[in-house]
Amino acid sequence: MITATSIRKRFGTLDVLHDVSLDVRSGAVTALVGPNGSGKTTLIKIVLGLARADAGAFSVNGAVADAAGRYRRHIGYMPQAARFPENLRVRDVLDLVRALRPGEPRDEELVTAFSLAAEMDKLVGTLSGGTRQKVNAAVAFLFRPSLLILDEPTAGLDPIAAGILKDKIRQVRAEGRSVLITSHILTELEELADDVAFLCDGHLRFAGTVAALLERTRERRLEAAIAALMRSERSRAAAMPSPEPPAWLPAEVERS
Ligand code: ADP
Repeated sequence: MITATSIRKRFGTLDVLHDVSLDVRSGAVTALVGPNGSGKTTLIKIVLGLARADAGAFSVNGAVADAAGRYRRHIGYMPQAARFPENLRVRDVLDLVRALRPGEPRDEELVTAFSLAAEMDKLVGTLSGGTRQKVNAAVAFLFRPSLLILDEPTAGLDPIAAGILKDKIRQVRAEGRSVLITSHILTELEELADDVAFLCDGHLRFAGTVAALLERTRERRLEAAIAALMRSERSRAAAMPSPEPPAWLPAEVERS
């Protein structure tokens, strides 16, 4: 699980995350959603230790995030497009990852379910997008992490492979582990998500169960509920008073 408190991040003069506080529950799949540019990737990067928050704190599975980064061993991450060294064989990639934590319990189920045995001798550079994504998934789940962060996990997978991955996600949830997932395929989130975290312009505008979101928006489908949240954010932004014109602006421009 993640417990994040008042996470703030600014790039230059742009406030990208404003005091985001979020709990990602154990035994649940949380969908992180929001318009493009709302801060989802930045939040994920902060949790992964790839970016530093300007303020705030968080813990993963009870381990407080600090500069030493030991909390990160609880996390399995599936990036949208994994970059493995192109000149390694699939076997080498998996062996390298296995060697990172000798003697630790491993979950090789996806290696089998995706029939990766047939791909072991191929160079990563020659793999199809779908097979790369299967290797990406197999690596993310390998050390039985307490938290999985999945960025567009089924992108590029055929329906059978996507089904295998979704079953695996459900298994992780049933085992009481947590999953944070971003996807543009809202029907997929609808199938999987228990909770929703909705970011807009760096503000966490909704965090709660799917059922609570449907009730709040009076919608029956997650897709429609998220669209309703986006519309209400847009009208909130439109209703905001425009900022005072700066003092240096000439009067005639101010009137136009
Ligand atoms: P999302 O994943 O929701 O599309 P991002 O977290 O990628 O949003 O981006 C949020 C905002 O932060 C955007 O306005 C983006 O342009 C800006 N941003 C992201 N990374 C950087 C960076 N390294 N430097 C400057 N601005 C950034």
